[in-house]
Amino acid sequence: MLPLLDDLKSNRLDPASLPACEVEALYVHIPFCFHKCHYCDFYSITRQTPERMHAFVDRLLAEAQLWKTLAPHIASHIAPRTIFFGGGTPSLLPHDAMHRLLTGLRNVFDFSRVHEWTIEVNPATTDLNYLHMLRAHGVDRLSFGAQSFDQRDLMALERHHHPDDVHRSLDLARQASFTRLNIDLIYAIPGQSLESWQASLNHALALNTEHISAYALTYEPNTPLTVLLREGRITPADESTELDMLRTTRATLDRAGMPAYEISNHAKPNAEAQHNLAYWRGLNYLALGPSAASHLAGTRFKNIPHIGEWESAIDDRILPARDVESLTRAEQFHERFIFGLRLAEGIDLHRTASDYQVRIPDDFHSKISQLLTLKLIEHHPLHPTSLRLSGRGIEVADSIAAEFSR
Ligand code: SF4
Repeated sequence: MLPLLDDLKSNRLDPASLPACEVEALYVHIPFCFHKCHYCDFYSITRQTPERMHAFVDRLLAEAQLWKTLAPHIASHIAPRTIFFGGGTPSLLPHDAMHRLLTGLRNVFDFSRVHEWTIEVNPATTDLNYLHMLRAHGVDRLSFGAQSFDQRDLMALERHHHPDDVHRSLDLARQASFTRLNIDLIYAIPGQSLESWQASLNHALALNTEHISAYALTYEPNTPLTVLLREGRITPADESTELDMLRTTRATLDRAGMPAYEISNHAKPNAEAQHNLAYWRGLNYLALGPSAASHLAGTRFKNIPHIGEWESAIDDRILPARDVESLTRAEQFHERFIFGLRLAEGIDLHRTASDYQVRIPDDFHSKISQLLTLKLIEHHPLHPTSLRLSGRGIEVADSIAAEFSR
């Protein structure tokens, strides 16, 4: 079927043009927050009522249903192995709205293969009944945005929780039979010292979760924090402190038996987040909710990043997907290779080229041997055909990625 002129003008997704493919992961974006943290550029809105959130759940279920109606050749293959509810703050949805969403999605898609289902939870408002409800629906992994255990850092980030809230939340999660728990941390916060970061890491380890994500603070365009930076009202961590913090993170978590399986993600053995790995391994994922990004068989698209416009599209029975980008096999191979280098499992260059049915670009071999000589990449010790960043390479990961970008 030929795309409509309107679709071409707005770069709207024509679902009929997508090839049938298996959808391994499902992401659901819940765009509600109590308050906008100063560093955050995820799409979220504050000020909402329970009625507003119920209406939002109605649209999310309608969006899922639209996939069934408008793209039955895709929907019949939506049997995700992993699900992730992110945001925003998914746990802000009222109990009955979340219950309705979980029940409704299960009625639309086949969830029989799901073996990991994560929901992000706000440590300030965790509630035992709510957690029991999530667990009863099959959610088996919770992720808490702790960010730091130093109140001064939380104030610098404009986070509205107290470090003690994370303890309390993890206790409640364990009472509700959750064993798969993640803590998100941020380092290189203005004013943060290496000692304070080390103390936060020790604090996080003492909580004994199976997974810790630790990201350096980034200054995203147009966030309030970036405005403060531009106006000279905050002093960012200098490069050498940030590097020391990265090294401290890796050394501390390695010693504790939680090595990095991706640059910023650490886990106990067999506790890696499979949903994240699905993204980095180039698998197919479908995303629902405003601003959520999907990837299906080499086609990327993003939902409208505005709740009102996203809702209008759904009410008009149009998939709210825009910014459609079709990647060639060579582009997919490039992306997969660059992401693969960031993983501890590494990437097998020849097998990946054969998976994407492309010829390895001529300049790859010389770049790889140069980086091997500089000890910035290395062969995986157990799978010598796979390459990955070395410890030194991780410190300059972005420059190495740029080397291989087209
Ligand atoms: S709670 Fe999370 S999603 Fe919401 S504004 Fe803060 S960082 Fe962003």
